[in-house]
Parts: sequence; C-alpha cells; structure tokens
Amino acid sequence: MHQPTAVASLSDHALLAHVEALVARERRATAELIASLCELDERRLYLGVGCSSLFAYCTEVLHLSEHAAYGRIEAARCARKFPRILERLADGSLTLTAISLLAPVMTEENAGVLLDRARHTSKREVEHLVAEVRPLPAVAATVRKLPQSPRLPHAVSDALLPPQPAGEPLARTAPHVSQPATIRPLTPEIYKVQFTLSREGYEHLRRAQDLLRHSLPSGDAGRIFERALSVLVCELERRKHAVTERPRTERPANGHGRHIPAAVKRKVWRRDGGRCAFVGTRGRCTSRSLLEYHHVIPFAEGGDTSAANLQLRCRAHNQHEARLWFEAELGLDRVDARRAPSPSATPVAPVARSP
Ligand SMILES: [Zn+2]
Repeated sequence: MHQPTAVASLSDHALLAHVEALVARERRATAELIASLCELDERRLYLGVGCSSLFAYCTEVLHLSEHAAYGRIEAARCARKFPRILERLADGSLTLTAISLLAPVMTEENAGVLLDRARHTSKREVEHLVAEVRPLPAVAATVRKLPQSPRLPHAVSDALLPPQPAGEPLARTAPHVSQPATIRPLTPEIYKVQFTLSREGYEHLRRAQDLLRHSLPSGDAGRIFERALSVLVCELERRKHAVTERPRTERPANGHGRHIPAAVKRKVWRRDGGRCAFVGTRGRCTSRSLLEYHHVIPFAEGGDTSAANLQLRCRAHNQHEARLWFEAELGLDRVDARRAPSPSATPVAPVARSP
C-alpha cells in the first residue's frame, strides 16, 4: 500500500493506474460488503448484538452515516432478489446510487431490461429510466398543477412496467404519491419540519390559534404543534404504559395472573426509561418504539408479573428472545439458533404482553 508521501512521488501515469486499482478494489469490497450484509440480515445477527434492526446495527455499531446505511441495506435487500447486481457492483457498471433508484421499481419481469439499460449510466439517466417505469413522481402541489391523466410515452416497453393484477387494464396513469414529511436540524436545538396538512388539520390549527390567542398572540404554528404533541405524548404514555402523575388506587395484585397492573407497568416503564432493556454484546438496544412487557422468568415457568420480573423489550428483541426460548425448550439445534446465540445470560421468556 502506498503511503501519502509515496503517492506524492508517483508519476502521473502510475498515479492514475494506482487510483484506478484502488477504485476497482473498493468496488469489489463494496460488492462483498453488500453480499455479507444480505446474509447478516437473513440471519438477523443484529439482534444478538443489541440492535433492533439492520439499520440500527449499521449506524450504531458500524458507524455508517444514515445515508450510507440506507443505501447499503437497500442494495443488500435488492441483491437478495436480484443477485446479478452484485456482479455489476463489483465490475463498476452499476453504482449503489443507481441500485437505490432502481430498487423500488424493479420486478422479476423488468429486472433484466432495467439492469442492462442502467449499465455505466449517470444518476440522471437512471432517474429518466425510473420515470419511464413509474411516470410523474410526486411533485408538491404548490409547485405546479399536474395534468389529470398523464400518459406514458409510446416508446415505453411494457416489459418496464410493474406487473398488473390479472384482468385489470394496464395502468398508464401516474399513481398519486404524497411527499414524505421532512425533518432537518438547523442547530442541535431547533429543527425545520415540513409536512402536508389536510383541510381538517388546517381547520384545527386555525381553531387552536384562536383559542390560544391570549397566551400566544403570534399564533406561531410551531409552538402550537409543540403543545399539541406534548398533550398527545402524555395521553399515549398514559394509555399504553399507565404513566400518570396521579395514579388511581388499585386493588393489590397477586402477581400470578397474566394481567399486568397499571402500577407495575408504570414502575417498569420508568425504571427502564421507556426504552428496550435488551443488552447485547455491543450494548443496550436503543429502540423506543413498539415496546412490550417481557417476563424475565417466563410465565410458563411460574414467572410472575411483578416489576422485578418484567422488563421493556422492543418487538424485535421480544420475538428474538421468545424464539430462542422455544428452541431451547424444544431442544432444537437449528442453524438459526447456532448462528445467533443470545448474549443475554438471563433467562429468556416466551410470554410478553402488549401494552
Ligand atoms: Zn430492542
């Protein structure tokens, strides 16, 4: 390997050859990485490491940027369906960007045509190709008005169109796709959020502005959404996890039924910080969504519903542990179990209750 100082001493010709060799090596490494991520995803090895998803593994353990992680995961999942893209990545005739653009529109029927036409093309050319398959991508209504029934160019081959349900005419009008909301930090403390509001939502906003006029004369929409979200989060936490500042008096629970009393849910939720408590080989899971209550000692083995025997789990880790428990119970020596051993030394449980 050439060091920076050694590179500086290379002739122009040698430097060009050196850079080309490096790029070729990088492409082969990328193709190998995509193939390996594909296999890692299949085995779901990220669960045992302590991540709830392949994306979390790529960003938190591999320290890839969100964009890099997204592109590689997209390519890995596309490669599972269309393995030939790995060869194209390795020989440099297809880029990760091209794959991420093509992946949403590729089907068994059009994959061959699309991959051939996309070879050694620029991003813009691939975007044109995608527009042929899926015409008129979503455009914000405030920019310009689209024609009612745009038609595909006659030159478009039917082989490029997504498959249609049997008996239905070939759809040649553009599907309506709304723009996803965008959230962008402006500083570490403030964010720019952009999304589409229905007429009903807009009317609610106007009504809230009127009702808050005394305390919020400016009617600032951001401040109103902050207050509305605060109320919504409190309500959801109360409903799903019984989180409240003024708990009602409950009958003492015997801890033997499957029902988890509200007071126990509250205690577990606060103790675990509203976050999955699964600890993998590389640390604790960061997931805060789809949380469930997990029995450390399984209910089937006499584990009770006390706070000491309950922990929060994201759905992925809850299912992961339940699967391992069942396999251990049944004495299965499955390939999956050997590939993804649980790093947790604590007993795992099959029983968890959704909030
Ligand atoms: Zn988790």
